[in-house]
Amino acid sequence: MNCLGCYKKIEKTEYCLSCRKKLFDGKRVSPVLEFDKPKADNISMYNEYSKSMSISGVQLKYSFRLVGNKLELCEKNGQYILKPIPTADHLELMEDAPENEHLTMQIASQIFNIKTANNALIYFKDGTPAYITKRFDVKKDGTKFLQEDFAQITNRTQETHGESYKYEGSYLEIGALIKKYVPASIIAIENFFKIILFNYVFSNGDAHLKNFSLIRNEFLEMELSPSYDLMSTIIHTPGERDTALDLYDLDHESEYYAAYGHYGRKNFIEFAKRLGIVEVRYLRIINEFIEKESVVYDFIQKSTLSKKAADAFTTNLQSRIKRLT
Ligand SMILES: [Zn+2]
Repeated sequence: MNCLGCYKKIEKTEYCLSCRKKLFDGKRVSPVLEFDKPKADNISMYNEYSKSMSISGVQLKYSFRLVGNKLELCEKNGQYILKPIPTADHLELMEDAPENEHLTMQIASQIFNIKTANNALIYFKDGTPAYITKRFDVKKDGTKFLQEDFAQITNRTQETHGESYKYEGSYLEIGALIKKYVPASIIAIENFFKIILFNYVFSNGDAHLKNFSLIRNEFLEMELSPSYDLMSTIIHTPGERDTALDLYDLDHESEYYAAYGHYGRKNFIEFAKRLGIVEVRYLRIINEFIEKESVVYDFIQKSTLSKKAADAFTTNLQSRIKRLT
């Protein structure tokens, strides 16, 4: 059996001690919730609590809090966000969505040392899986750290920039704002570059402006928030764009892109240079993805992805890595 948080081998299907500490204040929380997934006969219970949660695309999100060692649905002051299997007929392999997100987040944090929101897989009473993540903007006393995503920071809203406001601008624009607002910006920029590369290697084509945030830490300084919403979106939307935003202006007119029709090593090197990262550092980051490829396969093996989803995850990874070499 593997831990439903970190995949470590344990005696039975639950959360290991270390994951319990990270997620549930050390409490032994059951990996099975006491109620079924949202469906016709219980949706009113969910709806009652989901008023304050936004629906982004087709993904419903529910707010939970820990009471004793039980997770309870709540409307306000939630400590956790739970994402069930999205219901969308036009998307593929949706049953795998919770584990896709969990696996991708664990690979980011454990293999590539990217700071992420704590997360795990959890099951409804009827056995269907959901993804659960602990909110990093909520302090122990219930108050919140100030957090702003890059749609907010750049004043882009549906009203001012139309329906696709989250998909405007470039990653270089976000990089410039990190330099402007984050005091420890050299490290933040390197981490940001690594996340953009990670999203490319793992085919996360939905890393838009709202999926990056700045958060004010306990020393009242702004820093890049832990990563969230990382998943291999291509598994569910095979025809999607490779990246949600361009790397930098006119990158599609670069020699490499014009020749191959997609980004390659050269584009990421150019992106790193424009971010102001020194050569020895960006080469180390790029090469890390090539060197750790086999470790990633071990994680895919340990995951609960269906065979079809695991194969797609692997094939897409291989083709992206090839573009970086
Ligand atoms: Zn664990």
